[in-house]
Amino acid sequence: MNEYDSNRIYDLASAIGYSKTHKKIEADCYILNTCHIREKATEKVYHEIGRVKKDFKNLKKPLVVVSGCVAQAESEEMIKREPYIDIVIGPQSYHRISDLILKYERKKKKINETEFNVIGKFDELQKISISQSKVSSYLTIQEGCDKFCHFCVVPYTRGPEYSRPFEQIINEAKNLVNKGAKEIILLGQNVNAYNFDKKYKLSSLIRTLSNIENLKRIRFTTSHPKDMTDDLIDCYRDCKKLMPSLHLPIQSGSNKILKLMNRKHDRKYYFNIIEKLKKINKDIKISSDFIIGYPGETKKDFEDTIEIIKEIGFVNSYSFIFSPRPGTPAAQKETNNLMENKERLAKLQNILETFQNENNNNYLEKNYEVLIERKLDRDEKYFGRTKDMNPVILNSSNCNAGELINVKINSFNQKNLFGTHLVNKIKAA
Ligand code: SF4
Repeated sequence: MNEYDSNRIYDLASAIGYSKTHKKIEADCYILNTCHIREKATEKVYHEIGRVKKDFKNLKKPLVVVSGCVAQAESEEMIKREPYIDIVIGPQSYHRISDLILKYERKKKKINETEFNVIGKFDELQKISISQSKVSSYLTIQEGCDKFCHFCVVPYTRGPEYSRPFEQIINEAKNLVNKGAKEIILLGQNVNAYNFDKKYKLSSLIRTLSNIENLKRIRFTTSHPKDMTDDLIDCYRDCKKLMPSLHLPIQSGSNKILKLMNRKHDRKYYFNIIEKLKKINKDIKISSDFIIGYPGETKKDFEDTIEIIKEIGFVNSYSFIFSPRPGTPAAQKETNNLMENKERLAKLQNILETFQNENNNNYLEKNYEVLIERKLDRDEKYFGRTKDMNPVILNSSNCNAGELINVKINSFNQKNLFGTHLVNKIKAA
């Protein structure tokens, strides 16, 4: 989502004459778009500002803007703690960034803009033309969250759930496709909670987007199990452009921990969703996030998580040791023993790796349809993805970004599959 926001911030700033530079010391304005999800996010921002200060020590000071969720969480405090920062702007106010830059240039007075004005934001953003579109482009359809999982800062930094108007999204998608996008990844902190006017759901969006002729693939992330409704599951059967992979975080395999996390679903509920999806397409790939060592997690709770991984066989998943986020209910709880947590994480990641290897092994010597996203610096090497999202590095002397090509997979490592472009049409999976 920050990539989407950063691109829009760029579009807004370019409307008042700014252009991008890849040399930091050339910048007149330095915008740091921040994320609050990772550990020590706030400290990392101050360190980065410290580096900017050092880089510009003997140069004219740039205008320094901190945007995103750390800006929202820290607000006024940022300017007090680091006077080198000139503007602090939250994720629901960044549509005002060009006005605020101009205002600062006029008055030279520090600005803190951290209102939640999500409706105003998307109304404004639709007036600004999108300057760039990638083969695989992000499109934010929903923001915020009402679920309040006890470990998560999102409801506090992004605010309540908000769904963008249906037509606005369709128009933006058409725009992206006209500019060259072949795949659209619909984004939201709770993307499958999308609900506009009590009439349009994520399934309605997917079905309508499927009619855009030059759009080849549709994905969405990140979903909550609670909102994996049947109408959405049915899209995996009816909409050929919806790709057969789903990131559906379960976080823990223990019902006790899921309850302590306030996740609003249990193991059985999660299993039911997977069962329905597998009935539609047995090859659909499921990935998840796992939090290890959540306060109160016992050996038995951890074993429940291992068990669910083995039963479902997740691929491409993320796992972290629990770390408290200030202001969340879980931050008040006593944390588990760190050594034990580290051992559990290593064990879990080992099992995830085994499943990943088994999964990748199944691709060997078979042909797959790959969407080429870009040429790599190296000669005649390209990067693309299979339908189920697996990254592929391939050799080809005859392909272009944006093409769907057939690739024979020859080998793999921990991160990528490696293959060769099959120029003659051979049926691909
Ligand atoms: S559903 Fe997702 S975004 Fe919302 S509180 Fe839980 S983890 Fe955070």
